[in-house]
Amino acid sequence: MAACLEKHDVPNDVAAARLNLVTTLAISAPVACRHCSDAPCAAVCPTNALYRDGGRVAVEPKRCIGCRGCVMACPFGAIDVVTRDVVVKLGNLAIQGHQKPTVVKCDLCFDRPGGPACIEACPTKGLVLVDGNKLTENSKEKRRAAALASACMSTLPINENLAV
Ligand code: SF4
Ligand code: SF4
Repeated sequence: MAACLEKHDVPNDVAAARLNLVTTLAISAPVACRHCSDAPCAAVCPTNALYRDGGRVAVEPKRCIGCRGCVMACPFGAIDVVTRDVVVKLGNLAIQGHQKPTVVKCDLCFDRPGGPACIEACPTKGLVLVDGNKLTENSKEKRRAAALASACMSTLPINENLAV
């Protein structure tokens, strides 16, 4: 969270962490945007402030009108909307103190040369960045492991090729 906040602590951005740490008596785990392929936040956004860009759900804060539809649509609670002061320009006039709602969501550190700051900061590799191919691979591996575990409890032989 500290790495994320630091990455976004720059002019014209919101200095806030885009992920949360949830702790219970037994475990602690980060809750972050999953960049869903069929992202409900992007689907409900009326101004296209959230949109798919390749493998990520991108953010264009200037377009946000603060309706909070995305906050309610996100199944992971990974989006927030804050209000911040902006300068509005009217011709040569610069009006200070104008309040504008702004969506705050993980942008996958798309503009950071080293990739996601949170992943780099995690000392135990508790956060990883995976693509669609890796997800499919992981899913096959889980099904194979489940089939083999089930075969161990059965007296029938199993064809491993059919387990994926
Ligand atoms: S709060 Fe902003 S980003 Fe979220 S759905 Fe509304 S306009 Fe889009
Ligand atoms: S990828 Fe970047 S923006 Fe997203 S949670 Fe990690 S540090 Fe924050």
